[in-house]
Amino acid sequence: MTQWQRAYRAGGIAALHLLVLAAVLGGTARADWLAFAVIYPLAAIGVGVAMHRYFAHRAFATSRAFQWVLALMAALSFGNAVHFAGKHRLHHRHSDAEGDVHAPRQGWWQCWFGSLIDCGYSDTAIRREASHWLQWPELAFLYRHGSLPALCVCAVLYATGGFSMMVIGGCLPAVLLLHQSSAVNYFCHCRGRRDFATRDASTNNVLVALLTYGEGWHNNHHRFPRSARAGLHWWQPDLFYGVICIFEWLGLVWEVQRIDAQRLRRASLALQS
Ligand SMILES: [Zn+2]
Ligand SMILES: [Zn+2]
Repeated sequence: MTQWQRAYRAGGIAALHLLVLAAVLGGTARADWLAFAVIYPLAAIGVGVAMHRYFAHRAFATSRAFQWVLALMAALSFGNAVHFAGKHRLHHRHSDAEGDVHAPRQGWWQCWFGSLIDCGYSDTAIRREASHWLQWPELAFLYRHGSLPALCVCAVLYATGGFSMMVIGGCLPAVLLLHQSSAVNYFCHCRGRRDFATRDASTNNVLVALLTYGEGWHNNHHRFPRSARAGLHWWQPDLFYGVICIFEWLGLVWEVQRIDAQRLRRASLALQS
């Protein structure tokens, strides 16, 4: 990664935070929050359901058209679905070991922000992990121009409701989702309960799970990475799994990967023995 790319990413993250601060201090209108209420849930689904459970782990199958919609939802928060998929698969391969760029052992700053500025893996390594997605020209385009959809949304919001709507509707979701993702990367690898003896230090963290709509059941996720459901029990709420079920019921996705009771019991028994 070049110096210029690092500066661009660091500048982008700093600018998003400063813009949000300026908009909040400068005053916002009700319409700005209406835009937020529409965009934030879509962007959150774009991170948890699209980027993480679909593009990184293929927890379900879908059509080429809906796959494109999922990639666009991921892009609402300046996320790059294919890049994330490659990087995240490397996280699972090297979890909490030397090659894990956002392991807590690298320090809080590196885990929370540093790995977003420089993910530590070469573009070649990331592409190798996620190359199958690049067979579709529309995904290859988004891989090269990941920020374009979010910038277009910001432009439309600016034209509709001015500076504050652009920031509250277009930038605030990205800022919140950045911190939610980093909370999983950090706290769910050093604080919480370990229900499964995985090779990494992943944990189930109730508070993070509630704040990230199910992503905080991270020890479960490291044990069963392909499972569409991270909260494996009724007492482990997983809103993103609920969204996947709704998509399945609507016929938008299929082949949803689930862990049957027998497999779950075997995994639990393996821990006790
Ligand atoms: Zn992890
Ligand atoms: Zn994962």
